[in-house]
Amino acid sequence: MVVLDGKATSAQIRAELAEKVKGLKAEGKKVPHLAAILVGEDGASRTYVNAKVRDCEEVGFGSTLIKLPAETTEDELLKAINKLNNDEDIDGYIVQLPLPKHIDETKVLLAVDPKKDVDGFHPENVGKMTLNLPTYIPATPQGIVEILRRYNVPTEGKNCVVIGRSHIVGSPMSILLSQHNYPGNCTVTLCHSRTKDLKEVCQKADIIVAALGRPGFVTADMVKEGACVIDVGITRVDDPSKKSGFRLLGDVDYDAVAHKCSFITPVPGGVGPMTRAALMMNTMKVTELS
Ligand code: NAD
Repeated sequence: MVVLDGKATSAQIRAELAEKVKGLKAEGKKVPHLAAILVGEDGASRTYVNAKVRDCEEVGFGSTLIKLPAETTEDELLKAINKLNNDEDIDGYIVQLPLPKHIDETKVLLAVDPKKDVDGFHPENVGKMTLNLPTYIPATPQGIVEILRRYNVPTEGKNCVVIGRSHIVGSPMSILLSQHNYPGNCTVTLCHSRTKDLKEVCQKADIIVAALGRPGFVTADMVKEGACVIDVGITRVDDPSKKSGFRLLGDVDYDAVAHKCSFITPVPGGVGPMTRAALMMNTMKVTELS
């Protein structure tokens, strides 16, 4: 069994990107500048955004964090987005999700200039991804593809089951793994809350991507001997013994499942750090896509 080490792999990716940034600087070219908009005080979102800013600093990208209060109106947020669309210094930006309830997320995603949409959530970029054209790919599925590639995990002709059909993880994951390239060429089954006989479907899978947000959902009896298991789930549960006051649980019952696997990602230290690294890879792409 090989543990797919997202922490080490993402550190490697950041080191590679830092080298590229040095190269850009040496050639007198512009270094990518990533901005992030954070609306409100959600603890997890704040942690994610701060980590993204730290990653930018490590890699050598420019970064700008725009913090807006929770009571920001939709109109005010759209104005902030418009400003970033027209700011020549900003190459790419993200709007940290989730947004407060009074703001229409779709309206916001549609307002982002597709050329600066490093999260790859704009319909134009989703369309390009679906057609396998060069574009920004949502960070979590992109991070998963990258770790599969770097560990040479075999994918061609494999049965892959993706659990969860969200627009940011499950759905793009199913598209990427069915594409005609490596990692890809899988026969993909996309499962969701209405799927019948999920256990039997999973038992046939060579690769399982669990992205539903239910701790320990994937149990040993669902996993075939030799399968590759990718755990996307992150659920915070209170844990007074931790300095942070919480710990993170994945969607896979790791201790029971790991020994059956050919490859598995841990939580934490698997898909999470790869997601952050993929955002940095997308930000570097602004130099290639523009
Ligand atoms: P979501 O809540 O938008 O979607 C969950 C999906 O799971 C839905 O499509 C739903 O149909 C499906 N589902 C729910 N219950 C199910 C069941 N019993 N059987 C089968 N399918 C079921 O979730 P999301 O935004 O895709 O996130 C999923 C998980 O991944 C969460 O824990 C989230 O925190 C985590 N996540 C992690 C990263 C990372 O970087 N590691 C990034 C994004 C999301």
